[in-house]
Amino acid sequence: MRECFELRDADAGGRIGELTVPRADVTVETPALLPVINPNLDTISPRRLAEEFGAEILITNSYIIYGTEDVREAALEDGLHELFDFPGAIMTDSGSFQLAEYGEIDVTTEEILDFQYRIGSDIATPVDIPTPPDVSRKRAEDELATTQERLEIAETVDTGEMLVNAPVQGSTYPDLREDAGRHAAETDLDVFPVGAVVPLMNDYRYGDMIDAVAGAKRGLGADAPVHLFGAGHPMMFALAVAMGCDLFDSAAYALYARDDRYLTVRGTRHLEDLEYLPCSCPVCTENDPDDLRALEDKPREKELAAHNLHVTFEEIRRIKQAIRAGNLLELVEQRARAHPTMLDGYRTLLDHADQLERSDPVSKGAFFYTSHESARRPEVLRHHQRLDRLSVPDSLFLTEGDSDSERYDDSWRVQPPFGPFPRALSKSYPLTAEVPDRTDRGALEAAADGVARLVECNPETEFALGHRGWPADVLERIPDDVELVGLLGGSD
Ligand SMILES: [Zn+2]
Repeated sequence: MRECFELRDADAGGRIGELTVPRADVTVETPALLPVINPNLDTISPRRLAEEFGAEILITNSYIIYGTEDVREAALEDGLHELFDFPGAIMTDSGSFQLAEYGEIDVTTEEILDFQYRIGSDIATPVDIPTPPDVSRKRAEDELATTQERLEIAETVDTGEMLVNAPVQGSTYPDLREDAGRHAAETDLDVFPVGAVVPLMNDYRYGDMIDAVAGAKRGLGADAPVHLFGAGHPMMFALAVAMGCDLFDSAAYALYARDDRYLTVRGTRHLEDLEYLPCSCPVCTENDPDDLRALEDKPREKELAAHNLHVTFEEIRRIKQAIRAGNLLELVEQRARAHPTMLDGYRTLLDHADQLERSDPVSKGAFFYTSHESARRPEVLRHHQRLDRLSVPDSLFLTEGDSDSERYDDSWRVQPPFGPFPRALSKSYPLTAEVPDRTDRGALEAAADGVARLVECNPETEFALGHRGWPADVLERIPDDVELVGLLGGSD
């Protein structure tokens, strides 16, 4: 276990954790949002972020501080906490993106970390190489090697109580992300940003983003705190948390406000297009869209930024509650309906159901089947995997109906999407699931796969399946030697 991070609760790949930040003498509950503070722009003051929005941690850019003389002098003299008047933890970014844009740098990793230490950062970042998506494998490997050399140097720098980030790169190559994660986790660095995913999010490539995070997570292991670097839109937080991300940073709240953009958990709206404000935050209860439109630029930007922050923090709280209640994936399913690309993200998440299954609790409150994607949830996978642990008699009737059949030694229930189980397990999670009466093909196919698996595990047993009118191509998934009994009458 990493000393600075403790896990408290989990649901799918999501978790509630505690990140201890010794230099700030604070503990941050994760998932957490780090508002981005630009020291040259005062949209919403850090003190207000702490007191009104409950921000426990924020992030600022040490490159901008370094490059702005008066801010630099003040930061070196008094430290970031005094400069910003912020009581929580402060993370500093090295500005790798800016540095990558302006070409080679001539400062060393030691100097970069030393500067962040001297301005009073609580969590510092070495300069890594943010390799963009879709580059050649050679380039991704070469740049990753450079990032890894710098992490190894960073490990040797005496940073006192300051925590240090170990960015995980690897472009759109999940296996490189995994190698990068493993290497980063082997250093004694503390927090793990998954880097250079912003271009993916800007292009709505949530599926590729999930593959990159899943790769990084395989390498990092469960006990590493993971920061999805540059991800600030609340629409995708639930998805990213379900894959195992713990920290998010939002510049979006301020950047979007500057362009009159209004964040919602279902996407972004333009103030111009809004006839109502679909939100209950103080900004939206005290104003209507015309009131906001009538404001001067600066106050309008502040009001929109405040709304954007309210919805962003609200979503983080909703996600934490969903993890506690064990219904995070149901929240992800709802969010996935907001945009087809989010649905791609969710479907990709379910491609990693085996990875999620490892951290998913064995028992939760209830399983709600709310879309055909639910049939691919880790709970269904786990049930199928564990069918080989159940002992079966010589002959067994698997049925969607209630009645036992005297022709067989025993009768088990069949319930889409899980498939077969002994009646004694009916009261156990997830078999207590709430499933719609009007089931769908996804659930039937999963149930058929469960039947097939049980049959394959028990070649000596004679099986029959009683089903309520399953379509022929679903029944094709059932092994040939299983007797089929149609329960709805007719000749199937
Ligand atoms: Zn609002």
